Amino acid sequence: MYLRNLAKIPNYVSGTKDVSCKLRLSSNENNYGPSPKVRELIRKISKDAYKYPNSSYFSLKEILSDHNKVSVDNIILGNGSDEIFLYLFFIFLDENSSIVTLEKTFTYYKILASIVGAEVIEARRGKNFSISCENILSSIRPSTKIVVFPSPDNPTGVITNRECLEKILGSISPNTLFILDEAYFQFVPEDKYWNSIELINKYDNLVVTRTFSKLYGLAGVRIGYGVCSSSITKIYEKVRMPFNLSLFASEVVKQALLDNEYYSRVLRQIVNDREKMKKSLKKLGIWVLEESYGNFVFIRGPQKLDEKLLNHGILIRNLKSFGYDETFYRITVGTTNQNKILIKTISKIVC
Ligand code: PMP
Repeated sequence: MYLRNLAKIPNYVSGTKDVSCKLRLSSNENNYGPSPKVRELIRKISKDAYKYPNSSYFSLKEILSDHNKVSVDNIILGNGSDEIFLYLFFIFLDENSSIVTLEKTFTYYKILASIVGAEVIEARRGKNFSISCENILSSIRPSTKIVVFPSPDNPTGVITNRECLEKILGSISPNTLFILDEAYFQFVPEDKYWNSIELINKYDNLVVTRTFSKLYGLAGVRIGYGVCSSSITKIYEKVRMPFNLSLFASEVVKQALLDNEYYSRVLRQIVNDREKMKKSLKKLGIWVLEESYGNFVFIRGPQKLDEKLLNHGILIRNLKSFGYDETFYRITVGTTNQNKILIKTISKIVC
């Protein structure tokens, strides 16, 4: 009855569960929430909710282009970065094409490719769950129209480097799109960070996606964007829904980007706490991936750790839907206080 076996495609499994919990550490949100000024603004602007947004979203594009030092023509917008993947997959793929992604990574790429009928090729990881440039390159076929992976990766937190990216971009056809998903880029330590957006001037087939869902604490508001060549933005503008972002998106983004002091402070705290969390978990005999740079940790622990924690009101993410065995988990770094509660509870469970 349905096209392309749509009924057989697995549903996206999210970290948000309809269960009551005191502590949600399953969805890589920023549990400090948005800055006080952003909260205040959201309260204030609600009176305009009856209006449609200006469908060009020009002012939002201007803010983001200034922030990223690119032109307005280099910005695409999505209701979360998920929506950007949706449109790009729709634009670049059909039933004769394939995507190359990493094995056991963010599952939405695979689901979307299956929805449009494209084949999914998963490149094997290297040692310690790393992103293997060689394996990605050797997975690419003439049918491959999109190469996509996150850096930092979800759920492992491993990152790629400029050399790997340039190797891939230098090898693939200019007609194959490369999407670098940087949902978590702010959490990468300074000595490992490099600005991938600089590469969009060199490669017309590169899209770098970013989001306000993670560091900016605005997952519920749904604002994502991509930076890419103007040739891609032209097509994207034809395909996207006329009012795909809310009326409030540009105001909220403008204020969030002004609140540098708040977000820098929160970022520092989360990154410090991530490293502390790794140490504390290791002390409890839990295997932790060291080279992991998101706002979460990737661990291997006792079976049913997630269920045991939920009995104490703490929600973490098991990684079965990503393809990992049941001893792997991803835990979001929460507020300092929440992290203390987590460690205390785990120590009661394992000791
Ligand atoms: N990319 C990665 C790697 C993610 O983990 C997520 C969210 N879990 C997204 C993209 C989607 O984020 P958004 O809220 O911007 O749609």
